[in-house]
Order: sequence, then structure tokens, then C-alpha cells
Amino acid sequence: MATPLAPAVVKESTAAATPEESGSSEAHEAAAVRRFTLIHDHSRGNFEKDPKASCVGELTVSPTEIKFDGAGAGEGHHFEASWAEVLDAGSNKFFGSGIGGFHLTITENGKYQNLNFAPKSKDKAEAKLIIDLLNANARKADRGK
Ligand SMILES: [Zn+2]
Repeated sequence: MATPLAPAVVKESTAAATPEESGSSEAHEAAAVRRFTLIHDHSRGNFEKDPKASCVGELTVSPTEIKFDGAGAGEGHHFEASWAEVLDAGSNKFFGSGIGGFHLTITENGKYQNLNFAPKSKDKAEAKLIIDLLNANARKADRGK
């Protein structure tokens, strides 16, 4: 299987600290669960300074689904979607563009949601890696229907 999603220059260390993932099976990386620490924006993707304007949580990307858990931020900051429910991911051109801001649209249980995120690292290369990973998985799910 070809995996065009991971640019060779992006090292594991940029993708949040996930020491429990590494050691095991590097060869099966494509099928592995990957975790990224993200900022979830609560406005229009502005990433305002007000602590209430965003929360931080962990995005879990697995071969079967995608999950996000905004720490202590309540129901609206948690989602779980299968890849078939992921519509699109893409970088944001204006708001948050300097810190790798991107959007993710999903239909979780038929409910359309547009979410704005940025990597906590504010690393644009990490954002690109995540976007490519999400789109590759979503496209794979479409083909499988
Ligand atoms: Zn949130």
C-alpha cells in the first residue's frame, strides 16, 4: 500500500509527545493509531487569546475512526467519527493560518460540524501532516463504500 501522506521531513518528535506509540512496530506505522495535541477554536477560527476561546485536547487518528477530546471543555468539544463521516480537512487561509490553523468537517451521526483546529506546537508542517492523514483516510473510506 502506498502512503503518500507522510512527508519524509516530518519527524515523529513534531507530532506531540506519544512515547507509548513509538517503540513498538515502526513498520506498521500506516495502520497505527496516531495522536496529536490540538487547540480547538471556539470562535470562527481566530484562536483568540482568551482562554475560553479555545480548548486543548488530543486528536486520535486510528485506521477506523477519528476522535477528539477537549480536556474539561464538555460535550461540544468531543467527537468521534468514522472515516466515512469525515467530509474534508484543509488548511485555513486567513484565521490561524500563521499557526497551522485548519478546519475539519464531519457529519457525526448525520449532524454537520465544522471544527477549527491548530496543532498545539503551532507547527505548520505538523498541521499539513494531520490534514494529509485525515484526507487520505477519508478518501479510503469513500472508496470502500
Ligand atoms: Zn473546545
